[in-house]
Amino acid sequence: MVDLAKITSLCKRRGFIFQSSEIYGGLASVWDYGPMGAELKNNIKKAWWESLVYKRDDIEGLDAAILMNREVWRASGHITSFADLLVDCKNCKKRFRSDQLKKDKCPECEGALTEPKQFNLMFKTSVGSVEGKGSEIFLRPETAQGIFVNFQNVVTASRRKLPFGIAQIGKAYRNEITTGNFTFRSREFEQMEMEYFVYPEDAEKWYEYWLKERMNWYTALGMKKENLHLREHEKDELAHYARRCHDIEYKFPFGWAELEGIANRGDFDLNQHATNSGKDLSYYDEATKKRVIPFVIEPSGGIDRAFLAFLIDSYREEKVRGEKRVVLGLSKELAPIKAAVLPLLRNRPEIVSMAKNICKELRGKNRVVYDDTASIGRLYRRQDEIGTLYCITVDVDSLTDKKVTVRDRDSMKQDRIGVDKLKEYLEDKLK
Ligand SMILES: [Zn+2]
Repeated sequence: MVDLAKITSLCKRRGFIFQSSEIYGGLASVWDYGPMGAELKNNIKKAWWESLVYKRDDIEGLDAAILMNREVWRASGHITSFADLLVDCKNCKKRFRSDQLKKDKCPECEGALTEPKQFNLMFKTSVGSVEGKGSEIFLRPETAQGIFVNFQNVVTASRRKLPFGIAQIGKAYRNEITTGNFTFRSREFEQMEMEYFVYPEDAEKWYEYWLKERMNWYTALGMKKENLHLREHEKDELAHYARRCHDIEYKFPFGWAELEGIANRGDFDLNQHATNSGKDLSYYDEATKKRVIPFVIEPSGGIDRAFLAFLIDSYREEKVRGEKRVVLGLSKELAPIKAAVLPLLRNRPEIVSMAKNICKELRGKNRVVYDDTASIGRLYRRQDEIGTLYCITVDVDSLTDKKVTVRDRDSMKQDRIGVDKLKEYLEDKLK
């Protein structure tokens, strides 16, 4: 497996990921997505949304705000339970999570430690112009609560019957103490969460169902089966709201680590919000004429983690005619650039103009780019490194036979295609 240093270097060099506010020395564990990164990230989100909202008929989308009434977090348990126990070293002043320490001395300098103190992981901010206790709110630490507090709104607006789901993509924030491993544990990150509301007696069945569905989503997008597994949480490891939880883990260069959690949250959240808000959040079952509080099965994935895993998983180095070739073998859904149009000779105006016209024709639904900033060999290498599926080359013969060479990224096989057939050819390949 590729080491992480190669991935971080590729990310910077080819514009996938930059350090946030880098020119000022950066901000720890916060990242920016560059031109290629923005494409890949959008493609991951699109694939997730399509698989849940478009290809099924039982899930609605939602886009709730990041800022919420602080009572939401009291009801959800985040104000009291979303905390780490921290200790400080009295000597070197470094801070550690007390559950990660093996002995009661500083692991770095052997200094004495303070008593453990609760440290809440939510970022605080204030609303309005007056700062103080009353105006204090939080940046959401998960997107899920936006779904729970809108449960009744969505049911009423969409006339949904159980079982059904609400899907949401959005940013969340956690003031993590232990960070690192590149983007794996970031303080600002993006989630893809879906809450699937079911009759309590069906919860176990749907739980098993979503474990399979979500594993299949990663492999259908090209992630290697041998690098994925499911790990069930031990009882003492379960979050305060969960009855059962599995992690989908990926074999990162730094070890197996969580990509996505699938939890049976029971009726915890709807009950908590009903009690704390005084509003009825039950569901009226027309068949039995009874009200029930649905159980919730939640597949909750990290987009930044999926991004990193797809990059690592698709990275490969090959020897081609004695030279090293670096390829990102991303699937056609995820590849940032679908095709690049390249003039074989960049000092021949007729070739350049033909290539630019072809590119213009192909642009629109898919990202297609034109590049003439280097020799053809280097242009190929550059496109391979960012995972571009097809390189379309315009040469001297193209001027007379109106055909171009289309090179496949993986097989490097070349097809000679008529310019008038190119759009159809590409659409067919990308289907
Ligand atoms: Zn110390």
